[in-house]
Amino acid sequence: MLVKHSILETLKKQYLHMKEEIKAYNSVLDLIGNTPLIKLNKISADLPGNFYAKVEAFNPGHSTKDRIALCIIEEAERKGILKPGDTIIETTSGNTGFSLAMVSIIKGYDCILAVSSKSSKDKIDMLRSMGAKVYVCPAHVSADDERSYYNVAKRLHEETKGSVYINQYFNELNVDAHYKSTGPEIWEQTGGQITHLVACSGTGGTISGTARFLKEQNPNIKILGVDAFGSVLKKYHETKEFDNAEIYPYRIEGLGKNLIPTATDFDVIDKFIKVSDEESAHTARELAKKEGLFVGYTSGAAFQAVKQYAEEGEFDANSKVVIIFPDHGSRYMSKVFSDEWMNEQGFFDSVNQEEALKIEIIK
Ligand code: PMP
Repeated sequence: MLVKHSILETLKKQYLHMKEEIKAYNSVLDLIGNTPLIKLNKISADLPGNFYAKVEAFNPGHSTKDRIALCIIEEAERKGILKPGDTIIETTSGNTGFSLAMVSIIKGYDCILAVSSKSSKDKIDMLRSMGAKVYVCPAHVSADDERSYYNVAKRLHEETKGSVYINQYFNELNVDAHYKSTGPEIWEQTGGQITHLVACSGTGGTISGTARFLKEQNPNIKILGVDAFGSVLKKYHETKEFDNAEIYPYRIEGLGKNLIPTATDFDVIDKFIKVSDEESAHTARELAKKEGLFVGYTSGAAFQAVKQYAEEGEFDANSKVVIIFPDHGSRYMSKVFSDEWMNEQGFFDSVNQEEALKIEIIK
């Protein structure tokens, strides 16, 4: 009887202990990935098919780059390349840098970032807030110029003992991160019903890794890439020719390229389309106003591409289209979401002047 009672007491204690368990994440790193898929309603009302946004702003670092930062750093740790106190170095338009800085803080590494002068002031301040040392390099020099952010990062890597250069444009782990997480998540979230993937291409890691996984599940899924006017990717995809004449300055950060990254698997991409700075900016603002989705410039670019692909007849009533929205709108407060900036770019014409003036100052 006595024995039975003590067993009962132990079980009771264990049960109470279980009930009192604290449901906390060990760190922000546990929240990377498993982002939601959100149905688009009003903005796609006139387009044939069903449209779903994979909203990467739900990552703790507010962008899709959290996935690659964690994956690459943990792989380097597993291989013994990265040891406590070492330095992580990267070139970045901002998002990868922020994610790397965030992971570095948690894991105890120093972080040095070479960024393009095209990056917004907000982004640069954010990197510095996350403890990174930032080098701002001129945007409109060729990739092989010694001042380009690629070459500055390479030089810093050579000069810094115990440093690891992430090199996302030429790192296969960038693709792997999406093959292992973004692809399976989309497949599972759509119950295998996805017919089209629309994704921006910069390093190409997101589109290549996600597409590789999805095409292995169903080779009929169409992979539709998004490129910028001023970038070489679309022409290279179509002709395998690198055409310098395609390169000129443009505003969208993180989309398109002036070189061919090995992290882009052109074979898994069916088609590219180019989008303009102006239309992408307006579409980003439209996503906030019609869907309540405050997402970044390239999310606007991605949905602008959806509109253009729809015009080309890519979709029908049965299409289930997933669009990857790479980051959060708060990163573009001094750009796309600033009326002054839109005006300076000449993006407010007489038709939508009203949109610019939707503010009243009471004195
Ligand atoms: N959007 C934004 C805002 C980005 O920073 C990037 C990364 N350069 C991309 C899209 C493109 O993603 P990826 O590099 O994986 O092609």
